Amino acid sequence: MNSFSKNTDELHKSGLSPINTNGKMEELEDNPFYGIFNRQKANQLNIGNTTYKERLKKLEALKNALEVDYKQKLREALYADFKKPFLETDLTEIYPVLTEIKFAKSNLKSWMKDQKVDTPLALLGASSYIKHEPKGVCLIISPWNFPINLTFGPLVSAIAAGNTVILKPSEMTPNASKVMSEIITALFNEDEVALVEGQVEVAENLLKLPFNHIFFTGSPQVGKIVMKAASKHLSSVTLELGGKSPTIIDASANLEKAVEKIIFGKFTNAGQTCIAPDYVLLHSSLKEKFTTLFKSKIAEFYSDQAEQSESYCRIVNQKHFERLTSYIEEAKHNGSNIASGGAFNASDNYIEPTLVFEAPEDSKLMQDEIFGPILPVKLYSNLQEPVDYINSKEKPLALYIYSKNKKHINYIMDNTRAGSGCVNHNLLQFLNHNLPFGGSNNSGIGKSHGFFGFEAFSNRRAFMKQHTIGATDLLRPPYTNFKQKLIDLTLKWF
Ligand code: NAD
Repeated sequence: MNSFSKNTDELHKSGLSPINTNGKMEELEDNPFYGIFNRQKANQLNIGNTTYKERLKKLEALKNALEVDYKQKLREALYADFKKPFLETDLTEIYPVLTEIKFAKSNLKSWMKDQKVDTPLALLGASSYIKHEPKGVCLIISPWNFPINLTFGPLVSAIAAGNTVILKPSEMTPNASKVMSEIITALFNEDEVALVEGQVEVAENLLKLPFNHIFFTGSPQVGKIVMKAASKHLSSVTLELGGKSPTIIDASANLEKAVEKIIFGKFTNAGQTCIAPDYVLLHSSLKEKFTTLFKSKIAEFYSDQAEQSESYCRIVNQKHFERLTSYIEEAKHNGSNIASGGAFNASDNYIEPTLVFEAPEDSKLMQDEIFGPILPVKLYSNLQEPVDYINSKEKPLALYIYSKNKKHINYIMDNTRAGSGCVNHNLLQFLNHNLPFGGSNNSGIGKSHGFFGFEAFSNRRAFMKQHTIGATDLLRPPYTNFKQKLIDLTLKWF
């Protein structure tokens, strides 16, 4: 029996029909991941019907793997991939997944309960419920910049919601992918969770399969490819994308604190962070002080030589290194003012924390998502200028405001649109699982984290239970004058 007919047999035994693709079965049969997909599909009802205790057990096993068994291996893998400091791996990769698990453990029982909602009087005799049922077989495609966090974070939500999952991490951090693969193989059968490593073609092949849900984290450009592929099977999508996230600093801000926080937000992971401040819109009166503080805080955080610092990581690969250094080269020749930094070293993909003023609007620094340790600063004199500037661009994934002026803060909040943000800080919104995380339009579709992640991987199934003869039972044909009066009454009062 070949693997396809075996899988079809399994599906019949499980009471499910094989994939209905309107006659496109042959196309799918050749797909290298069709076997795993079908085994997961055959197993979906079993996994979907697990109790919250069974799901918690799986999350607990993942927690132990991250916290104890594989912690050191993960740290070493990320150091090998882009010299990520161990402490940063603990803080930005392991900690967010552990807290996501902890949050799910505290709340999963109530999330899984059928939620009773009101029933209108006209439907008297029935009660109404929302049941969160699993989406089914899900695909998670993740980026390289926080490979553990952005692969296992969504996995926690998918498991909590009772799905089977295929994970495809980025090809750019192969050491991290290898350890994640070991963890998944140790904890799960392939018909529940599988991880496939490999290049872009792997993702392209996976995207041809009729997943029930696709959770993608990456660039807006690839997000569009994912959405197009999903449309073929009407798979639902969560798209966690990127873009340029602005930071506004007004004249009232505590500048020293603002600079400290921006340096932390921008140069952690060497700026390779989706919600890092991409550029700063600074009140022009603060330019000199900002520059002085920037230089002194960089020296304090990373010593005088960031290249020697054990707290500063590298650019992930040569391609991204060359992209980023081309921004610096461009800045050297287009009239920009490199106020601090600007050095780099190709042997190690090292780029110094860099501050740039007066970058022309049509330069790559002001047009592309930077995703690296270069901070352009644009000066303004009237608060309407940064608001208009932000609104002339795509909606950002994050928007940060540094100010003590409540009126200014409210004005910016009311007159801009963004996926998330902070007032007088940055990045922290990612760590509160009570908040939905995600973008808006070009920066993303759908939300993740906590209950919002559970919802992303669930279908809200609506159902009603009829208890007694209901009011609507009186309105069947034949339509009489009495029934007309009842309908008139219904239209008038309900
Ligand atoms: P990317 O879009 O290049 O790649 C992401 C994933 O998609 C990888 O696994 C890759 O293999 C796959 N992929 C690449 N090209 C593909 C194609 N043509 N077809 C199918 N799959 C393909 O992104 P990246 O460079 O890994 O990450 C950087 C981007 O991700 C930035 O834009 C950043 O802002 C964004 N990001 C967003 C979040 C968020 O939570 N919103 C988090 C991290 C990164």
